[in-house]
Amino acid sequence: MPEGHTIYRLALDLTRDFADQSLKVSSPQGRFTSVDVLDGQTLKRAHAIGKHLFIEFETVEKNAQPAITCVHIHLGLFGKFKKMPKEREPSSSVRLRLDSEDSCWQLTGPTACALINADEFKALQERLGADPLSAAPRSPRAWAKVHASKRSMGALLLDQSIFAGIGNVYRAEILFLLGIHPEMPGNALAKPLFEKLWKLSRTLLLRGVEANRIVTVDGATGRTRKNGTLHAYKQRYCRVCTVPIVKTTNAMRTMYHCPTCQPDRQTKRA
Ligand SMILES: [Zn+2]
Repeated sequence: MPEGHTIYRLALDLTRDFADQSLKVSSPQGRFTSVDVLDGQTLKRAHAIGKHLFIEFETVEKNAQPAITCVHIHLGLFGKFKKMPKEREPSSSVRLRLDSEDSCWQLTGPTACALINADEFKALQERLGADPLSAAPRSPRAWAKVHASKRSMGALLLDQSIFAGIGNVYRAEILFLLGIHPEMPGNALAKPLFEKLWKLSRTLLLRGVEANRIVTVDGATGRTRKNGTLHAYKQRYCRVCTVPIVKTTNAMRTMYHCPTCQPDRQTKRA
């Protein structure tokens, strides 16, 4: 599943290509039923919270003041939102297609793609946790939830109501880089280490936005070969101490950690 950096990058790219332009909006698949509301209207901006994407249009109906109409998109496991050559005919699986004079983007296979009103947006925003990609240098809300929890750090990092945007790859990499065992309970994490975790999450997600892929190894870039960009996730050996990486299940997802660099001495504390 795409993690927060992908959605944040999508929001930047869509805003760059379409802001303040009137768009042709279509749904070749027919399953996005609000085409009539948006077709010919002006896209103002796209933005992201965690793994959720929001595209705002300024819509004008006859004899009414302009209003902001928002499309909510969640890619889920299989969704893709990609820039396409304008001349390419859309396939019947395209849920949403946006065309300006110069650019074309197509959305396929999302879990969600629908208009949401201001109340629904607010409810979703409240349900989601803090996004490390927001400018906040720290998150008292996320700290309070982690500090009060006996759940493992592996599970807490995947909980979108605490850390919006962190997915399975980032959680393995963040825990590795901080030497935290995935089964360590949240309430055993000291506050200074939590502050480090928050800062590191933001740094790594920002690096992901820039490279358009997850890169956690210093010096690696978006062009580095695939197995040279990560420390623990799907790795065979630890890059630091060379022992085999251990594969377990945590919060129903596959977890990767180094038994030496991430010792389990703190997992029993509660
Ligand atoms: Zn190691």
